[in-house]
Amino acid sequence: MSEINEFYRQTAARIDKALQYCDDTKAVVLGEGTLERVGTFFQNLFGADAKAVVVADVTTFEIAGRAVLERLEAAGVVVEDPFIFDAPQMHAETRWVNALHARFSPTDAIPVAVGSGTVNDICKRAAYLVGRPYAVVGTAASMDGYASFGASIEHNECKQTFSCPAPRGILLDMNVVCEAPLKMNAAGYADLIAKIPAGADWILADLIGTEPIDEIAWSLVQDSLRDSVADPTGVARGDKKALARLTEGLVMSGLAMQKAKTSRTASGAEHQFSHLWDNQHHTHNGEAPSHGFKVGVGTVSTSALYERILATWSEATFDAAIAAIPQNFRAWETIERELEENFGTSGLRETVENECRKKYVEPDELERRLRLFRDSWSELKPRLEAQLLPAATIQRMIADAAAPSTPEEIGIDRPRLERSYRLAQQLRYRYNVLDWTQDLGQWANAVAPLFQPGGFWN
Ligand SMILES: [Zn+2]
Repeated sequence: MSEINEFYRQTAARIDKALQYCDDTKAVVLGEGTLERVGTFFQNLFGADAKAVVVADVTTFEIAGRAVLERLEAAGVVVEDPFIFDAPQMHAETRWVNALHARFSPTDAIPVAVGSGTVNDICKRAAYLVGRPYAVVGTAASMDGYASFGASIEHNECKQTFSCPAPRGILLDMNVVCEAPLKMNAAGYADLIAKIPAGADWILADLIGTEPIDEIAWSLVQDSLRDSVADPTGVARGDKKALARLTEGLVMSGLAMQKAKTSRTASGAEHQFSHLWDNQHHTHNGEAPSHGFKVGVGTVSTSALYERILATWSEATFDAAIAAIPQNFRAWETIERELEENFGTSGLRETVENECRKKYVEPDELERRLRLFRDSWSELKPRLEAQLLPAATIQRMIADAAAPSTPEEIGIDRPRLERSYRLAQQLRYRYNVLDWTQDLGQWANAVAPLFQPGGFWN
């Protein structure tokens, strides 16, 4: 057996093992030339009599959609007219979900999404709304959402995650993925390497008990993570094996979210930078940077903060923070005032206030946490060090994959990045390194120096 075939065999074995923990997805096909088998793939999943409707955009229809349609027909599947989105720079928005919902309502055909993030998210949600399973044929290794439960969709100018099952089946043909634009696969690389600091954040949340680690989901994401991100230059070159490893890592992350029914498994503070810029409707050169590109800059940002913390904190830092609770404790009124200043009357304000209320704790709970961190410091510190990579290393790997590794490359200047640390902290309940810094009262000693002479971002 050739080396690459042996590699795909091992990949399939790892994915099949993961599938036993998943309720929605029954089959993942990943290899070269797999598009040829889409007919049997479809019939095995949905039965010999099931009809199909291909959903694509103009580009993905040309790349793979037409071939999918033809292979389905050749296998004897009744295929309805495809639904093809024809909107340049289309984003996952409610209006597209509604359009697709209207297309699905009068038929019982099974949707086959052909595309990546946007097409998959819209189709996932619309299929759920008509109570139907669906399948996806992925066209790029651009994000981890193929196998995940939930769809990220903009609603009332606010990006939200809507609940909906993952696809019944996922087919990835590496011959197609390798032809995807370089920047799409680079974005997927950044979305995957993000799981390194995201894992560290989950360790913190697990310790204080807000979101305990799900061991199975953890190992689905983390066990093969270092291998999956090991060849960033290969990703940039379009090397098939590097891209297959990346694709496997992204699929495994999605399956982990599906298993745990939460994105906690695959996202931490670095994703909050991205969500913040999404919700600020940030554009660069007239376009919204991709999810992965924003997450990549967030990943370098939180890695830099972790590095500073691990280099400067000790048990004494926690003792000092405990002693300072009476002076430093931020009452809810203070936080509310800050939210007013930071988010004003923007659409985001209400969401942020709800999230902050959820994570607000009284002084006695704060003290319990700080004592817990102090008492576990001798184990926690090496555990975080083992989980993380140096910020400069992670930055270089992201750059080697041809993804943006500095904020300027996505149109964020340094003062805005510094402010984004604060806003990202307030964005979401999910406990992470930003909350940790806040709880210790160490913002001025940990975040600010990153932007001062000698600091990572200076
Ligand atoms: Zn992501």
